[in-house]
Amino acid sequence: MDFPIIIGNWKMNLTPHESEMVAKKIVAGLPSQGVSAEIVLCPSFPALEKVARVTVQSSIALGAQNFFWQESGSYTGEVSAKMLKEVGCSWSIIGHSERRINLRETDSEINKKVKLALAYDIVPVICVGEKYEEREGGQKDFVIMREVTSALKGVDKFSRLVIAYEPVWVIGRGEAIDPEEAQSVATLIKYTLRDIYSHEVVEKKIQILYGGSVDDQNVNQFVDQELIKGVLVGGSSLKPEIFLGIINRLTSNAN
Ligand code: PEP
Repeated sequence: MDFPIIIGNWKMNLTPHESEMVAKKIVAGLPSQGVSAEIVLCPSFPALEKVARVTVQSSIALGAQNFFWQESGSYTGEVSAKMLKEVGCSWSIIGHSERRINLRETDSEINKKVKLALAYDIVPVICVGEKYEEREGGQKDFVIMREVTSALKGVDKFSRLVIAYEPVWVIGRGEAIDPEEAQSVATLIKYTLRDIYSHEVVEKKIQILYGGSVDDQNVNQFVDQELIKGVLVGGSSLKPEIFLGIINRLTSNAN
């Protein structure tokens, strides 16, 4: 739990073959002295098995970008947590803003997914964050508290979970927010968590990440913030040299 977490979210960007090639480059470029970071790659569903065959030889873990909120059954086109577990996923992103916005994913569905992830021993990475209009309308804190609280409703037994603060308006923008602002939102998330869980649970079992236009040039500024334990990376995780740059910076930081 002490190493920084670096999660690459490849979204709907690489074919299975391209994913395999990018994963190979990342694995080949890992620091030879070993990696003092937890690294997770989240390819698209069809690429999971190919990427798993590459990462299994390394310290990189496999994650999914999503799954369905029911355990199994007649849900054409959906993928279950159990299926993900079987192909080697030990992590999953849940409630990414692109799903909340484009697929109308609700707080209640996200809550069900968190419970299913935990039931299958998959670390849930719960994404929360305000849209630009919400920020301008002074609703930022309210939105974040609501998203955290509703995702965790009835979630009482877990060994680990992760919350990623991703301000929606900086995702893919190429310019991140001020690291101090990310720290202040992480503080708000901590206070919200402490209304639900004991101090010990919050400190030992929950980690907060920042996501939104992270690259190898700005990553240290975020992870240097006391409450930010790692990063969720979109665009920069598609470019092996930049993703490896992020890993190298955080690895040398941790040593
Ligand atoms: C994301 O989509 O989770 C993300 C952080 O994207 P980007 O790094 O491209 O802003």
